[in-house]
Amino acid sequence: MSARSSNGIQQQQQPNTTPQRLQSTPWFHGKISREEAEMLLVPPYDGMFLVRESTNFPGDYTLCVSFGGRVEHYHIIYRDHHLTIDEEEMFETLGQLVEHYQNDADGLCTSLTIPVPKKGNPEVCFDTKDFQNAGWVIPNDDVKLGDVLGKGEFGDVLLGYWHGTKVAVKTLKDPHAVQMFLTEASVMASLRHPNLVQLMGVVLDGPSSRISLVTEYMGKGDLAHFLRSRGRQQITKKDQLNFSRDCCAGMAHLEAKKVVHRDLASRNVLLSDEMVAKVCDFGLARDLTFVGDASKLPIKWTAPEALKDSRCFSNKSDMWSFGILLWEIYSFGQAPYRRIALCDVVKFVEKGYRMEAPENCPAEIHEIIRQTWDAVPENRPTFAELLARFESLRTAYV
Ligand code: ADP
Repeated sequence: MSARSSNGIQQQQQPNTTPQRLQSTPWFHGKISREEAEMLLVPPYDGMFLVRESTNFPGDYTLCVSFGGRVEHYHIIYRDHHLTIDEEEMFETLGQLVEHYQNDADGLCTSLTIPVPKKGNPEVCFDTKDFQNAGWVIPNDDVKLGDVLGKGEFGDVLLGYWHGTKVAVKTLKDPHAVQMFLTEASVMASLRHPNLVQLMGVVLDGPSSRISLVTEYMGKGDLAHFLRSRGRQQITKKDQLNFSRDCCAGMAHLEAKKVVHRDLASRNVLLSDEMVAKVCDFGLARDLTFVGDASKLPIKWTAPEALKDSRCFSNKSDMWSFGILLWEIYSFGQAPYRRIALCDVVKFVEKGYRMEAPENCPAEIHEIIRQTWDAVPENRPTFAELLARFESLRTAYV
């Protein structure tokens, strides 16, 4: 932590590692047979993969990849502290190897897409050493805890003080959620943008070995609550446009980094004391461990294609959610589809029903919302395109 030991978010430097090193290893299944691996890669989906210990070459590993309805098994040789498949590209860790082949097929049948997570004890799937090595671990004693800021899915979020800076500390209560929790941390660690809530570090040695995420403190709390509590008396058109633009800028960064958020909503946007909106809650981002568990999906915010098939989550499905978020901003935090029962929303939307523009919503914003809800994902705009439109709308207000 020496490089980042003192005061303040602004002065902080990136830890001395590429953030990509922070990786969960849910795809590592240890000692399973070739047949077991093949059963886990069903139903087939090109690029779906896992890593197991090699049975034929003890000490080596095997990368199993689904492609064209078959499973290819690649021998990963471990020699002289390096791992390689083709004896050309060498890697220090399995995480680096997987990341390489996620970015590029480089001789494999396909690039790696969906990791098949190991079931059972999630603790063994995540190597907290990655956090340690990357300099993201904050000693427990360095953080002083204060009041409760809010209640999260995994536990309370507390105000904290870290080297004189206010921070938010989210502590994990249920150890079974550690995988998702650390996935959130690793996604946050790999991203740095003024409109994304910044991770400052992870406390791994908290009371009873609890894990906490330490993030920048956002003094005005979550946007959903802010919109509802301040309402149209206090929130101006300019504020609404700024919130929209800020969220779009954060999402454009995710889009550029090929990260899919999956849970974009006003409840997952936080406001700083200076009223800058930042997207947070990367708990579902990139995490594919919940494939098939549709019960966890925020139905009213999720694009129809992603509700039907979780492999269809994309930056375009995030764009659909962004349209709902815009609708929330311009309706001052009303609940979407409030006259339709939750179980009927999907049916309505699939038949072409779309919410009307919120009262007094500017025509140009309504036009953007309409485009985000195009039934065909490819027809929806990109966040980069929308950002340019928000910037020009903003100059019109000045
Ligand atoms: P979860 O994702 O587990 O539901 P959240 O991250 O949304 O939890 O946090 C729950 C609440 O805690 C938020 O709605 C917000 O009011 C508060 N909170 C979370 N993070 C911060 C932060 N960085 N600064 C200030 N308040 C926060």
